[in-house]
Amino acid sequence: MKKVANIYTAPQKHWVGNGFHVQSMFTYNDRDKNLDPFLMMDYNPPRYFDGGRKSDFRGVEEHPHRGFETVTIAYQGEVAHADSHGGGGIIGAGDVQWMTAGSGIMHEEFHSERFSQEGGMFEMVQLWVNLPKAYKMTTPKYQSIKSTDIPVVNFANNVGTARVIAGNLENVSGPASSFSPINMWDVVLNEGKSVHFDIPESHNLIILVLDGTVMVNRDKIVRRGELVTFENGGKYIELEANNNSKLLVLTGEPLNEPVVGYGPFVMNSREEIVQAISDVQSGKFGQITKNI
Ligand code: MN
Repeated sequence: MKKVANIYTAPQKHWVGNGFHVQSMFTYNDRDKNLDPFLMMDYNPPRYFDGGRKSDFRGVEEHPHRGFETVTIAYQGEVAHADSHGGGGIIGAGDVQWMTAGSGIMHEEFHSERFSQEGGMFEMVQLWVNLPKAYKMTTPKYQSIKSTDIPVVNFANNVGTARVIAGNLENVSGPASSFSPINMWDVVLNEGKSVHFDIPESHNLIILVLDGTVMVNRDKIVRRGELVTFENGGKYIELEANNNSKLLVLTGEPLNEPVVGYGPFVMNSREEIVQAISDVQSGKFGQITKNI
């Protein structure tokens, strides 16, 4: 069994731009080794935004990234994305945007025009997934993953469901391609039900509880807004939902490579960070092209 290592409570919310009111569940400055290869998680818990905006949409202005992938999971609301590598589109409830920043990208993230006009509930998770050293300078890429492309595993006996975004679960494969072995499951468990997940022994495992309360391994209680990490080793976990619960389950093969981060850049050395800053200043990350 994978043993619980740490349970983190959601910190104070802060604004990213003026469109994302998030709790940073962890960043690459955290020393918890059980997070590798995941670098950062911003959780925007359900929040209502007024409509009526016809321009000046809420969001984050143009900014760079290099050396990792940004994965945005939309639970409620809509986000429009545009980048300097021709990637772009709108993701809504159930959709996932998987952007490989690789060698360098400029992008912007805003509430969609429709959401800005209509308003409504907004709930997102943005993850930064590290790239192995060999792929940090890979060509940027954008995967727009629609809800309809994400297969659903139905657990027997009305236990719940899991949408397989990346990796595998019960011989069902997710649509996202990643540069290192990762599983990403959007799990819903019904009150009073239990589930057993086989997890690769070498993988790190983290779980964000977005709703409800779960008992992990018949021992630890993890509540809404908390993140749980696990120790190395062990091949499975058991979860029991104390009430209807929604979980983001992430597993990944640790890269075990040096992590040197500075703002939107995460590389393996200080020299590479200096280079990234210089490359942005000299325009090498390009300009955003809008095709949405
Ligand atoms: Mn960004």
